[in-house]
Amino acid sequence: TDVRELLLSRIRDVPDYPEPGVMFKDITPLLADPAAFVALTDALSEITVRHGATKVVGLEARGFILGAPVAVRAGLGFVPVRKAGKLPGATLGQSYDLEYGSAEIEVHAEDLSEGDRVMIIDDVLATGGTAEASLQLIRRAGAEVAGVAILMELGFLGGRARLEPTLAGAPLEAL
Ligand code: IMP
Repeated sequence: TDVRELLLSRIRDVPDYPEPGVMFKDITPLLADPAAFVALTDALSEITVRHGATKVVGLEARGFILGAPVAVRAGLGFVPVRKAGKLPGATLGQSYDLEYGSAEIEVHAEDLSEGDRVMIIDDVLATGGTAEASLQLIRRAGAEVAGVAILMELGFLGGRARLEPTLAGAPLEAL
């Protein structure tokens, strides 16, 4: 579609970043282009509303940039999922494995509760590790998952297959 072409044309491939052999997908040209940024926000909010979400969770850091306007557009609250140690209140944490070592994400426990239906927003799905930990965190907070909506899926990394059991039927939509 036209929107897909517009979005693709504003994503920059950066070779060997952040390390040799990695082709980094840089979305800053898209964010700087008002037509593309609005089209992206509209498309992600359409997914959010269509799946009956009542809250938007954005994953640090680019999920904040995308998730906040989506939440406003959809008329929903926004909840940040952050890297460990950044949130001041009482948190729930979830750690997950990286290629070397592990990482941990956190959410304010009081921001999610039973009855919430959460749409998770991020820019890129790579191995799926971050999204998988987020799904677990949201459920442990007592909320339901409405789905995962992302700009771009790096299919060759197998994130979708990894997420399938954890999604447990919830939709994963990539633009
Ligand atoms: P995963 O956990 O391996 O799926 O990695 C996804 C997380 O890393 C997301 O929060 C992305 O923002 C980030 N990420 C991984 N690869 C890229 C990329 O090529 N461009 C932008 N972000 C990326």
